[in-house]
Amino acid sequence: MSNQGLIDRDLQVLWHPCTQMKDHEWLPVIPIRRGQGVWLEDFEGNRYIDAISSWWVNLFGHNNPRISGAIKAQLDQLEHVILAGFSHEPVVRLSERLVEITPTGLTRCFYADNGSSAIEVALKMSYHYWRNCGQHNKTRFINLSGSYHGETLGALALGDVSLYKETYAPLLLTPITVPSPDCYRREPGVDCASHSREMFRHMEAALAKHAHEACAVIVEPLVQCASGMRMYDPVYLSLLREACNRHGVHLIADEIAVGFGRTGSLFACEQADITPDFMCLSKGLTGGYLPLSVTLTREAIYQAFYDDYEKLTAFLHSHSYTGNPLACSAALATLDIFATEPVIEHNQKLAAYMATATAHLHDHPHVAEVRQTGMILAIEMVKDKANREEFPWQERRGLRVYQHALSQGALLRPLGNVIYFMPPYVITEAEIDRLGVVATEGIDFATR
Ligand SMILES: *Cc1c(COP(=O)(O)O)cnc(C)c1O
Repeated sequence: MSNQGLIDRDLQVLWHPCTQMKDHEWLPVIPIRRGQGVWLEDFEGNRYIDAISSWWVNLFGHNNPRISGAIKAQLDQLEHVILAGFSHEPVVRLSERLVEITPTGLTRCFYADNGSSAIEVALKMSYHYWRNCGQHNKTRFINLSGSYHGETLGALALGDVSLYKETYAPLLLTPITVPSPDCYRREPGVDCASHSREMFRHMEAALAKHAHEACAVIVEPLVQCASGMRMYDPVYLSLLREACNRHGVHLIADEIAVGFGRTGSLFACEQADITPDFMCLSKGLTGGYLPLSVTLTREAIYQAFYDDYEKLTAFLHSHSYTGNPLACSAALATLDIFATEPVIEHNQKLAAYMATATAHLHDHPHVAEVRQTGMILAIEMVKDKANREEFPWQERRGLRVYQHALSQGALLRPLGNVIYFMPPYVITEAEIDRLGVVATEGIDFATR
């Protein structure tokens, strides 16, 4: 099979995600035959460094022997079983371990099979909790500008990336949207912590005004990934936890992208030393192998649903593949790697190395900011460095970087004009160096 053969067949029958398919008249789909570590290989032997972890899911490389082995072993035991009324060992073990490693106080695991569904679960549970407690007025949610929580209608409504959302506005819930603490927007000379703390006054005001009708505040802790790797200080999360308690509003932490070591700690919430009321995990949960998501919550919330059947307080939500054993076995193998190898410490070295490999970009005439939180490093391309004027979105400058990177053996899919590295943790220093060179060339080429 050749690349072209598969591309032709693909374009006859597929509709690709998040894609204007007409682009593929001139922008080829890249058919991948195999993956190994950070490398993806096409049918003609061209290789690409997967610098974005295949949309932020892969943690320990493609074809990882420990994870692949665990799935193969599980496959001979049990591929799937209904989780209502039935159980199996991988889902029990995974739940025990998630309760152990997530912030103290999260004691219950509810499974789904993708991130958006985990968000839907959290939204429905929060609303239903208040209803079970007799609080029928709580029907709304508070979110941050620039947030992203997925594509299903509930999750989409709680996001704030207009490119994905605006078209569907008539179909969506209307959240109460508070300005993001995004540190890119801070005034010159103000540090990120002070900016985040200052921006909290907007959240405090929204809570004071809307707590009576608000079920929960939903945030992506520390990094708003989809809106361009927008970063803020942990102090915002500490203030938010305290204010949610004071106002009687739940806190939903969407760690779907930032969980499992991306931000420099196993979970981003740890950096603020907080426990949310709901924590949503997916993406890296299975090491990037199989679809699985989980919504963790506190015992008091679980107890508000626990009653005689006739009271009709149960959470009657399900998905066909809830708690799939193969996916759970991939997740257990992923947690084993965290438990037996010094992943977080190793990532600190890799993160420092990523900073060094891109340090020269701070002075680039078309780079407004190079920002980093742990293993996420983002480069903001602008038209005018002095006033941070953006390139018009129609010019698709980021796409030019993407095309250049592909020609140089790297997958660097941008977010608009933001180029970022979010690599698997098995990347080497030499490979990071390579990404630094390719990104720099790509930015030179794209801003010419
Ligand atoms: C990817 C993502 C989601 C949605 O997960 P899917 O599995 O794509 O549905 C939700 N929240 C955040 C922060 C994400 O990055």
